[in-house]
Amino acid sequence: MENKKELRTWLNDLNLSHPLVIAGPCSAETEEQVLKIANELKDTDVSYFRAGIWKPRTRPGMFEGVGALGLKWLQKVKTETGMKTATEVANAAHVKLALEHDIDLLWIGARSTVSPFIVQEIADALHGTDKIVLVKNPVNPDLALWLGAIERLATADIKKLGVIHRGFSTYEKSKYRNNPEWQLAIELQTKFPDLPIINDPSHITGKRDMIFDVSQTALDLNFDGLMIETHFDPDNAWSDASQQVTPKTLIQIMKDLKIRKETDPEAEYNSKLNNLRAQIDVVDNQIIDLLGKRMKAADGIGALKKQKNVAVLQSKRWNEILGHMVLEGESRGLSEEFILKMFKAIHQESINHQEKIING
Ligand code: PEP
Ligand code: MN
Repeated sequence: MENKKELRTWLNDLNLSHPLVIAGPCSAETEEQVLKIANELKDTDVSYFRAGIWKPRTRPGMFEGVGALGLKWLQKVKTETGMKTATEVANAAHVKLALEHDIDLLWIGARSTVSPFIVQEIADALHGTDKIVLVKNPVNPDLALWLGAIERLATADIKKLGVIHRGFSTYEKSKYRNNPEWQLAIELQTKFPDLPIINDPSHITGKRDMIFDVSQTALDLNFDGLMIETHFDPDNAWSDASQQVTPKTLIQIMKDLKIRKETDPEAEYNSKLNNLRAQIDVVDNQIIDLLGKRMKAADGIGALKKQKNVAVLQSKRWNEILGHMVLEGESRGLSEEFILKMFKAIHQESINHQEKIING
């Protein structure tokens, strides 16, 4: 990805005065359904109409998409509404058909990004295309895998690239369908500031009433756009029913979202910001210092346990710490979710230290 500046060109060329919006149903179901939704979305801020034609379903026996037939419906969307079109491709045959039907934007789904073989096959089939290609994050939070897919496409001379953050699956129960792991998206933005990044709050939340909040967080984190699943009758959609919104709701969401500037040249703002950032830097250093001290104490405990041949994990003591810290955190405005996550990470590091001492 040498010509990194080029990456942003396609987005700048759209000349939008607002974030890029890609919307449309999870799946194309019938020609009438596709055209009805498209007609409700035309003359809004939606630039690209999405619809899944080939649906990657976790379990067999569910609706797996209408197939190539749906590409004709997307072509009709373009001629009837003027909106550009977008669909997911998952192999070389999909790519060939999508290009033949002049689909404007192709995305690689989360289940495909995990497979370098599939990504390479798609990249080869797309070689040199001037279509926009967006790569969804892999289902597992692995930045290298995500970047690897982008690199394969860049190497296949595909210029109009971007990524879609759709969250990551976890075994642990969470309020999200796919955890956003914002830190990972931020890391990607830091490494490749010119790679456009779109947020997909539909697949992150899995629930339509959480879509606004996740969209706002994404815009606050300088995401370039949103992909939001939209259906005139969400509850009866053939896939992802609980996360789709109506066109009317989508228009309201777009109206209510606050679009913040990346920065402001005003001197007072900058001096205040620098002051607060300096405070954060000081506190961050203190946190690291304290964690180092805590681990030194854990090393001491490890040595004692080794002497007496006592197990590293002491569940009772650990549960006491957790309960106490959740209360302490609460009184300082820190959420239980955050305290549990942070202390679990600290505890794991502490166990690693003790293990090293006991076995080392
Ligand atoms: C989709 O966009 O409908 C889809 C299947 O998404 P993902 O690849 O993120 O699961
Ligand atoms: Mn979907």
